[in-house]
Amino acid sequence: MSSPVLIVGGGPVGLALAGELGWRGVPCTLIEKTDGTIEQPKMDLVGVRTMEFCRRWGIVDWVRDAPYPPDYPQDYIYVTGLNGYELGREPFPGRGFEANPPESPSKRERVPQDMFDPILRRFASGFPHVTLRTNCELVSFVETGSGVRAEVRDPVTGAAEAIEANYVVGADGGASTVRERLGIGMSGNPALTYTTNVLFRCPNFSELHDKGKGYRFIFIGPEGVWLTIVAVNGADRFRMSIVGTPQKITHTEDDIRAALRRAMGRDFDYQILSVMRWVRRELVADRYGTDRVFIAGDAAHLMSPTGGFGMNTGIGDAVDLGWKLEAVVSGWGGAELLRSYEAERRPVGLRNVAEASRNLGRMLATRERLPESAVFEPGAAGDAARKAYGDWFAAIMRHEWFANGVMLGYRYDNSPIVWPDGTPAPPDPSHPYTQTARPGARAPHVVLDDGRSTLDLFGRGFTLLRLGADPPATGRIEGAAAQRGVPLRSVHRREPRLLAAYERALVLVRPDGHVAWRADAEPADGDALIDVVSGHSIHLRQQMGRTS
Ligand SMILES: Cc1cc2nc3c(=O)[nH]c(=O)nc-3n(C[C@H](O)[C@H](O)[C@H](O)COP(=O)(O)OP(=O)(O)OC[C@H]3O[C@@H](n4cnc5c(N)ncnc54)[C@H](O)[C@@H]3O)c2cc1C
Repeated sequence: MSSPVLIVGGGPVGLALAGELGWRGVPCTLIEKTDGTIEQPKMDLVGVRTMEFCRRWGIVDWVRDAPYPPDYPQDYIYVTGLNGYELGREPFPGRGFEANPPESPSKRERVPQDMFDPILRRFASGFPHVTLRTNCELVSFVETGSGVRAEVRDPVTGAAEAIEANYVVGADGGASTVRERLGIGMSGNPALTYTTNVLFRCPNFSELHDKGKGYRFIFIGPEGVWLTIVAVNGADRFRMSIVGTPQKITHTEDDIRAALRRAMGRDFDYQILSVMRWVRRELVADRYGTDRVFIAGDAAHLMSPTGGFGMNTGIGDAVDLGWKLEAVVSGWGGAELLRSYEAERRPVGLRNVAEASRNLGRMLATRERLPESAVFEPGAAGDAARKAYGDWFAAIMRHEWFANGVMLGYRYDNSPIVWPDGTPAPPDPSHPYTQTARPGARAPHVVLDDGRSTLDLFGRGFTLLRLGADPPATGRIEGAAAQRGVPLRSVHRREPRLLAAYERALVLVRPDGHVAWRADAEPADGDALIDVVSGHSIHLRQQMGRTS
């Protein structure tokens, strides 16, 4: 069989890429080596940028209607034990009651992987030109000048076959076969902690203690943070994580049951559904692929779940790659386009793994600044000690709970296919997030007069925003795009607040919603601009970077 694009791995990132390509009309085949069953859901935070992609794909309602109860409180609660003392709490409403942040037409959602993957699968499988195959494992591949030949097999029957593709994307997770076969190493810290996750069922969990319902309980003992428990489905399933240390340890079933007893403060009835022993890592691939084979998601970056960045970063990879693959498969994309994938996404991977580790460091700061013994004792002195310690911990943890800067603020500042405007790079804090239309940034959300968002103006191709009452001419840009078959649509908007947010009268937005170029007049040479943003040549500044 043959397919323009072969995606290896049917986790959330592979499924999102299949959906993105399907939405773009690009035929693709996804292979997944398992039967698709999720033994233990990992992710459950669908970030605000991922929800913006879902908005574009038209599947926000599906996410909203996922069976995680909309009114289940999302509080983060810091305790010595479920029947012990509460040290602090960061209250959040149920996902159905959280407001959109002002910078977005969307909001994050709490939808665990065993609810979110099926949504992505349903989306991707709705396109007749997308083929999803389970029980199909990539064994090896050979890349030639004109394509890739992949050898796959059915792990159940052992039946082997070959798949020919123009491009292959390895979204095959942390132990990526694609990455390994390409000989790509990963750099960073391979073992932050050895952690054990235990999925358990306990329908009356919230009746067994007085802390109420919340999303995450963080347990602080005399040794600092040692355990977390999260409400996986907002009903009867919970996930306990014995946080661990950088020293290798295998928690036995006795250790697991002892941890649950210590967390509750007494024995209680529960059913262990699955145990996952895993290593928390801070690693980024040294390269993101070759001319025809790429890696995305956990295959490219592995980070601590603190912050919920992993899948969301991977779906950002998929969206970046999606329009570039469409461009080269359709014939209008130049050679620099796929090269820019690594230039744009690897810095984001490095940025996000580092922030995830900083979040872990904040939680584990309790192991440096141990709670004094009074924190665990009754009485007024204990209350005062708990308040002081809890206030300190709550303040540092806010960096993790409020991170729209991480989710929305990533930029492609040094991309070879972005035309810089000479303005200095703004800061990049995790919070607060300040929108900017500087080239390389996500194009800002502004509410239009008709109630839609600017993000709703961006389609599958480029969008040339012409802003203000009397915008400058754009014939040279439009002519150059038409001549090269580059899909471009001009949109004139008069709203003054849009011009204020975008700061220039002309703004060229890419098919992935990032700004490619902006100015107050079109360039003398429209061909040069279109050649850069469609990957046929690179900007002079980048050429100097490559030769120096
Ligand atoms: C406890 C925990 C909580 C987390 N919470 C969040 C969160 O809230 N938000 C967030 O964004 N991230 C979170 N993450 C991270 C997130 O789960 C991962 O980043 C995400 O699952 C990565 O998706 P992926 O598709 O790249 O890889 P995976 O989910 O690992 O999927 C890879 C797929 O490829 C398949 N595969 C592997 N090899 C082959 C092969 N040779 N042939 C065919 N198929 C193959 C595998 O079977 C698998 O299905 C969390 C992680 C953990 C551990």
